[in-house]
Amino acid sequence: MSDRYALVGNPVGHSKSPRIHAEFARATGQDLDYGLIEAPLDGFAQTVEGFRAAGGRGLNVTLPFKQQAFALCTRVSERARLAGVANTLVLDQDLCDNTDGIGLVRDVSENLGFGLRNQNVLLLGAGGAAQGVIGALLEAGARRLVVANRTVPKAAALAERFAGISASSYEALAGEAFDVVINATSAGLSDESPLIPPSVIHGKTLAYEMVYGRDTPFLAAARRAGARVSDGLGMLVEQAAESFFLWRGVRPPTRAILASLRGA
Ligand code: NAP
Repeated sequence: MSDRYALVGNPVGHSKSPRIHAEFARATGQDLDYGLIEAPLDGFAQTVEGFRAAGGRGLNVTLPFKQQAFALCTRVSERARLAGVANTLVLDQDLCDNTDGIGLVRDVSENLGFGLRNQNVLLLGAGGAAQGVIGALLEAGARRLVVANRTVPKAAALAERFAGISASSYEALAGEAFDVVINATSAGLSDESPLIPPSVIHGKTLAYEMVYGRDTPFLAAARRAGARVSDGLGMLVEQAAESFFLWRGVRPPTRAILASLRGA
């Protein structure tokens, strides 16, 4: 029988992860099966234990369980510990990890060819996705990292946890300009955008939207400002590749599946 992996979340029906991991397995000659598990909102830990007891080898975790996933493991990677949330469980090692940050940085620096070293970076949002990428952005050499959130105390709490970042409201960004603006909010899912002042994004900005599969108001506004834009599909593929590497010890190629998902 193939080794079993899955994505756990609620909901999960929309996920592209099974297609991505099937392609990784094909490209690397690995024998595995990757499915989707919709866990009850009050039954994440039981769902994980059931999957493990049935021989499951590893899980990706998505909304709304990333914090619970972090609390579940006896071993926590340094990057998951920094993030305080986990998106990858290596069940046979009882290890939890977070691959979102490295996924974002690889997409920006390798797929988009945009170096983050010495850049002035603005991260919008202070939820699980934002938390998960701060460590990797700092490690990639961002000169300045500002975290802004609608609920400002959540951004302030992150600035207390991570040395070298500062917190802001959206309004207080008026007059400021950034090289890279990453939208790690879920506003785009409801066709909304964080209310950032117009100065923030300009013709030389990379405006990165973590949401993928739709043209969000954030992307539309950034395009109008003349910025270079990207959605989060490449991040999705790259974080999946890092999870695959943790599970199988083999790094899968990502370019072809990314192009295929984009319909190229
Ligand atoms: P989360 O923990 O629920 O946090 C949601 C964040 O969005 C909070 O900062 C929230 O602000 C903000 N927000 C929601 N609606 C808003 C609005 N209308 N205006 C301004 N801010 C708003 O969610 P998450 O786990 O961080 O995920 C955020 C997004 O990232 C999701 O859409 C997810 O799909 C995406 N994501 C993509 C990838 C990828 O691989 N591409 C990976 C991870 C996540 P408040 O604190 O003020 O409520």
